[in-house]
Amino acid sequence: MSTPRKIRCIVEQVTNHGDRVYTVALKPERAVPAFLPGQFLHLTLDEYDPSGFWPESRVFSIASSPVDRSALALIYSVKGKYTARMEAELCVGKSVWVKLPYGEFVVDGRMDAILIAGGTGITAFQAFIEGLTPQHPNKVVLLYGARRPGLLLGREIIEGQARIVEVMKAFLFSE
Ligand SMILES: Cc1cc2nc3c(=O)[nH]c(=O)nc-3n(C[C@H](O)[C@H](O)[C@H](O)COP(=O)(O)OP(=O)(O)OC[C@H]3O[C@@H](n4cnc5c(N)ncnc54)[C@H](O)[C@@H]3O)c2cc1C
Repeated sequence: MSTPRKIRCIVEQVTNHGDRVYTVALKPERAVPAFLPGQFLHLTLDEYDPSGFWPESRVFSIASSPVDRSALALIYSVKGKYTARMEAELCVGKSVWVKLPYGEFVVDGRMDAILIAGGTGITAFQAFIEGLTPQHPNKVVLLYGARRPGLLLGREIIEGQARIVEVMKAFLFSE
């Protein structure tokens, strides 16, 4: 597994899904270390001085594909103090720092998998689902619920993959 590295990024795009849920696309200033689907990063809004301490941050699953190490994406919903700050401050062109990769919550594609996600929890599975090929040998079942249909994040990708990956079944729910 890669050693975590700290990298400055520029916010390239912020997508508002409604109900205070956002996707943030980041452009890292250099290639990010190799990571596995399901791993997460720390994001800080504050300037980081490499000779000093890492500032206050929060962790987010990496929603982008590990295949493209020149881009990062995360999805967050506003819950408390820090994510409210993110909602107020994250805009196109802003500089942020991330450190990654972390975590051992990775899906082992060498065996059958049942994936259960609610809301932004889908981000932990997104890169795995995106990376499935039509020849994938083992069963993948996804159960994914969100408050309303518009908050089923990445729905087109999930449904597209379920159409072409014979072993994948996706069950999507909303209230
Ligand atoms: C491995 C991992 C991956 C994660 N991935 C994601 C992700 O992809 N997307 C995502 O949105 N989040 C993710 N999270 C959660 C994220 O890291 C933050 O913890 C979360 O967004 C809340 O941060 P916050 O600063 O807004 O809330 P905080 O201010 O830190 O508060 C945390 C929670 O406590 C509640 N709270 C705060 N103060 C009080 C109080 N006085 N009384 C009662 N309740 C209170 C808040 O409402 C909030 O729900 C992940 C967490 C982990 C551990």
